[in-house]
Amino acid sequence: MVLHNRVSADELRKRLELETFKRVTISFYQYAKIEDPQAFRDQLYESLFKLDVFGRIYVAHEGINAQISVPEHHVDAFRSTLYAIGFLNGIRLNVAVDDDGKSFFVLKIKVREKIVADGIDDPTFDMANRGKYVDAQGFNELTNDPETVIVDMRNHYEYEVGHFDGAIEVPSDTFRDQLPMAVDMLKDQKDKNIIMYCTGGIRCEKASAYMLHHGFKNVFHLEGGIIEYTNKARQQNLPIKFKGKNFVFDDRLGERISEDIISQCHQCGEPCDTHTNCLNDGCHLLFIQCEACAQKYDGCCSDACKEVHALPEEEKAVLRKGVDKGLMFNKSRRKRIK
Ligand SMILES: [Zn+2]
Ligand SMILES: [Zn+2]
Repeated sequence: MVLHNRVSADELRKRLELETFKRVTISFYQYAKIEDPQAFRDQLYESLFKLDVFGRIYVAHEGINAQISVPEHHVDAFRSTLYAIGFLNGIRLNVAVDDDGKSFFVLKIKVREKIVADGIDDPTFDMANRGKYVDAQGFNELTNDPETVIVDMRNHYEYEVGHFDGAIEVPSDTFRDQLPMAVDMLKDQKDKNIIMYCTGGIRCEKASAYMLHHGFKNVFHLEGGIIEYTNKARQQNLPIKFKGKNFVFDDRLGERISEDIISQCHQCGEPCDTHTNCLNDGCHLLFIQCEACAQKYDGCCSDACKEVHALPEEEKAVLRKGVDKGLMFNKSRRKRIK
């Protein structure tokens, strides 16, 4: 069988629209030693393809990280398939909170150097030595203690639209820079409780191991991240200490956790937490835009992009030619755009 997708994106999107069943958006990860990531990847592709699973999965020597959508009627079969793999037996599956099931339209499984790029080249660093897990209840209790520092291990654009009350941001756009930065920021607070969190738990789990590696003693990380915290807190009627939106890396760009809007439109400064990508294909900037500005700028990040976006297709193609893509595709912007 063919172990890669060969169908065009347009055709795949069309097929997704025509589906008559529901899909469930699920994420999971596991740090575990995988001897032959390529062989593991091929086997996994074959079994998940049969179950019409879509999504993005990374496999590396250090483990697996998956964000997928599973047809509702295949969820049980999917779970059995997964649990038949030794190190994934019994693994927690995070189900998206606010979900329309249209998150992905194709299955991609890639072999990577790491499941989370970390820039760590110290051979004595050991993922087996991680911080202690806290669940929603444990998190709430520990964060009531003034001796606890809450550390957000996500990117700026994620923190911007939603974070835990009192959480500090580690201000870098890459996880590899955040690790040493977190150690430096907290170096005078080694006696405090450090709780780290991220979206689904994968980054803070590694970060907790990194802090322990650098001499911190009381390091905790939020089990299953914001996603699992929210599910648990809602089920158990606990106070939810997360304010705003949880940014997620799929077409939805975020799920609302609380009604608070803690960020502003990057164009007019009005309260807003809707991320969008600039509609000028040569820009595609990820930024926050309110509805009024979306109208005013035709979904673009600036007057310049609005002008390009309004050009006929042929002219846009000419413009795009010869422009350095590395410069055009910014991921996020910190400052207000003007
Ligand atoms: Zn605006
Ligand atoms: Zn733009």
